[in-house]
Amino acid sequence: MLDIEIYVDADGVLANFEGRVFDDLQSQKLRADWFDGLKLYDMLHLKSFSSDDVKKTFAGQQTDPKMKDLKKRWNTYFDYIHRVADKPGFFRNLDLMPNAQDLLNLCSKLTGKLPNILTAPMSNNVHCEPEKKEWFEEHFTGQYNRFICLKEKAQYANSKSILIDDRERYTKPFIAAGGHAILYKSFEQTKKDLIKLIEELSQNKNVTNTSNKPIFENRNVSYSGIVLDERSRNKLIEVFGPTWELHDGFEPLAHHMTICMGPLPTDKKDLLGKKVELEVVAFAGDDKVKAVEVR
Ligand SMILES: [Mg+2]
Repeated sequence: MLDIEIYVDADGVLANFEGRVFDDLQSQKLRADWFDGLKLYDMLHLKSFSSDDVKKTFAGQQTDPKMKDLKKRWNTYFDYIHRVADKPGFFRNLDLMPNAQDLLNLCSKLTGKLPNILTAPMSNNVHCEPEKKEWFEEHFTGQYNRFICLKEKAQYANSKSILIDDRERYTKPFIAAGGHAILYKSFEQTKKDLIKLIEELSQNKNVTNTSNKPIFENRNVSYSGIVLDERSRNKLIEVFGPTWELHDGFEPLAHHMTICMGPLPTDKKDLLGKKVELEVVAFAGDDKVKAVEVR
């Protein structure tokens, strides 16, 4: 078991909030009006703002006709969406996002423990939190640890916590507060990013595996190798970097030395996770490839 806590957002990641809200012609029309206004007045950056931040932007009396018009479009859109989501049963009856089940299973498989749900409440909506809680109990019993309904998600950020969320307004503060975060765009992309992140974290000395069993043992192994620590990487790049002529857009990584494709042979498995020292004894290269010989 890895001592990493994963926090998974609900709306847009596990629950199809937008699918339900925009299953309605009027809300589709008002959203299009709001987006058209943002485009018209060159204010598209507001699209990624939280509703609280948009409200702050339009707070007070607006004298500029463009801002006045935008504020009107936003208020009409926002009020309508809230009226839709305020109806009892809205959050209780949301559809599951595709692969919602797979995502929670993946989190458990990668860390050896259940993930937590971390979802923001909808302002002034009394049904939101209890209905979300019931929804999770119905669909995901036994598949998550804690259910947390809180706007300040960054409270749970630390060097061993990961937030999976579809909004940058939550992932960015989480990272700024010292945590790790994955911006959810699809299950496949999240799966790829999460595996990569947990592999990186599990090589970190701060994260421990309490099961004495390599956490990635049962996955398909594409290669086995020796991963260089930061000091070795920096040293290699410092000494041999000046001899590299890199094409535009390329950067030196000096990440690992492949031992074999696929998993290590059974008689070498006891070497997994061990620290080794390599001595560079020779260097060779041409205009396409550079390599060092080690022993
Ligand atoms: Mg969300």
